[in-house]
Amino acid sequence: MTTTALYDMVIVGGGPAGLAAALYGCRARFKTLLVERIGLGGQLLTYEKVDNYPGFPEGVTTSELIELFKAQAVRFGMEHRSVEVTGLELSNSVKVLHTPEGPVRAKAVILATGCTPRKLQVKGEAEFTGRGVSYCAICDGPFYRNQEVAVIGGGDTAVEEAVYLTKFAAHVHIIHRRDTLRAIKILQEEALANPKITVHWNRIVAEILGGPQGVTGLVLQDTTTSALSQLDVSGVFVFVGLLPNTQWIPEDVRRDNLGFLITDDHMATSVAGVFAAGDVRSKSLRQIVTAVGDGATAAFSAGRYVESLAHQG
Ligand code: NAP
Repeated sequence: MTTTALYDMVIVGGGPAGLAAALYGCRARFKTLLVERIGLGGQLLTYEKVDNYPGFPEGVTTSELIELFKAQAVRFGMEHRSVEVTGLELSNSVKVLHTPEGPVRAKAVILATGCTPRKLQVKGEAEFTGRGVSYCAICDGPFYRNQEVAVIGGGDTAVEEAVYLTKFAAHVHIIHRRDTLRAIKILQEEALANPKITVHWNRIVAEILGGPQGVTGLVLQDTTTSALSQLDVSGVFVFVGLLPNTQWIPEDVRRDNLGFLITDDHMATSVAGVFAAGDVRSKSLRQIVTAVGDGATAAFSAGRYVESLAHQG
């Protein structure tokens, strides 16, 4: 990677928000670089199919959607590097992104770094991660053919992935801490109608049990009576929300109380020339369709900012 090139905008993150920003940045003829660390697609890589992205009446597989996003951005000249950004210097008008391959300089930066699954933080979770505890159904579901598995959480991800896991598992137990699911109704209906799914209401995981072969079960606690019970499963899929990927982003870029980056309607953060888009942003609806809208807006705003620098001379 060259240390001398000065990009108009550098986009960090290769999910739908980053790819949409790249498309808009390149199409507006700004010198644009997209940097990501795990492959294009972001969190889409952990799902199999998308049913709520407009334009695909029968749904679309995530692999196909990623390829389409990528092909469109490449058609307009997207430059892309797979390397981790580890730091960001914002003290000068030229921003510097640090990577193990050297610094990258940009007039504007778009942060589209998405989120990471939140951990349960119970006994056994860390010990059995990769040996029965998973945060990705599409990655690990096929290992549990004809076995009993548990899904922890009651949001869209937990319920959608529980349905997906019934393709492989003998039975899927959803463990939810309340008596109503948070997931949207259409997902609830599908899960509750599936004979291979049982919801254990008002239960939290007290401990994940296992041995040399990996996970063997869960200790559940009833949130109304505090009574403990045991559930035998060989896989545990944890879907209890998201944490924003912002560790390397300086504190000058303001966050909300959950750590998501605060922007205005133009996707501008609290630092001039720094924009945020997609799931990492503080907002009410985290979907592909909102991420691509954020990405387009962020690139448009970043372009305006870059042009304003030129006018300042
Ligand atoms: P979420 O909406 O934050 O839901 C997290 C779930 O985990 C909630 O049911 C919550 O319980 C539960 N939970 C949190 N901490 C827990 C703990 N310590 N122990 C037990 N349960 C715990 O997260 P998400 O489902 O990952 O969704 C994240 C975002 O992505 C949402 O905006 C969602 O709409 C979006 N998404 C959309 C789709 C889609 O459109 N197809 C698919 C996946 C995700 P409570 O309900 O009691 O709070």
